[in-house]
Amino acid sequence: LQSFAYAASHDLQEPLRKIVAFSDRIIKKEADNLNEQSLDYFSRIQRAAMRMQTLINDLLTYSRVTTQAQPFAKVNLAVIAVEVISDLETLIERTNGKVEVDSLPEIEADPTQIRQLFQNLISNGLKFHRPEVNPLVKITARVVNSEHTRLKWQREFLELTFEDNGIGIEERYFIKIFTVFQRLYGKDEYEGTGVGLSICHKIIERHHGQIKVESEPGKGSRFIVTLPINQNRTS
Ligand code: ADP
Repeated sequence: LQSFAYAASHDLQEPLRKIVAFSDRIIKKEADNLNEQSLDYFSRIQRAAMRMQTLINDLLTYSRVTTQAQPFAKVNLAVIAVEVISDLETLIERTNGKVEVDSLPEIEADPTQIRQLFQNLISNGLKFHRPEVNPLVKITARVVNSEHTRLKWQREFLELTFEDNGIGIEERYFIKIFTVFQRLYGKDEYEGTGVGLSICHKIIERHHGQIKVESEPGKGSRFIVTLPINQNRTS
């Protein structure tokens, strides 16, 4: 999938750029010669092509988790959280949301990928909020002994929890949502491509960790990420 996604994404971008550019030209230059319905058709062509571009870009990001992986280094999670929250300022303001962060330690990881993980999980927690409730995302961390996880190759792991008060997820979708392009709502209800959580899953796999979700519809969701504190094997 990686090599396919990478090659296909680059080759697929070019024709799409042309579709967007030429339909844009028609809308601007031929506006007087076209009736309302034709203009509407052209803008729909343009919107569909732009959505396809977004899907391809997300697929590229997905393939880059392995093709552009960086070496593991010490990562200060508290700094990452502050930076990601600052990047998400517009979304936080737009949704009247809040992000609360516990004290977070340092771990050995790929800094760019951990940033991406935080970005995806926090933005989902803000995005999938209940209409009448301001979103609140809480990030907590605790060190767990390997007896408390499926992972056995280290003695200690860090368990990070991203908890929100949003729409929640039905249990039958707990596994499905981590696959590419899997979404539970239409793009008109919540924007997105359905790639974010599959990127998270891939990032965590590369870090030899695990991710799972606990949730109840209407009551919020809890994404639990277990990551090794150090990447060298101790058992
Ligand atoms: P996207 O956010 O682009 O739709 P994701 O891969 O991040 O794609 O998520 C897949 C689907 O899982 C979402 O479309 C949504 O239905 C569900 N989901 C993810 N995070 C949450 C959350 N915090 N609360 C409720 N549903 C969620």
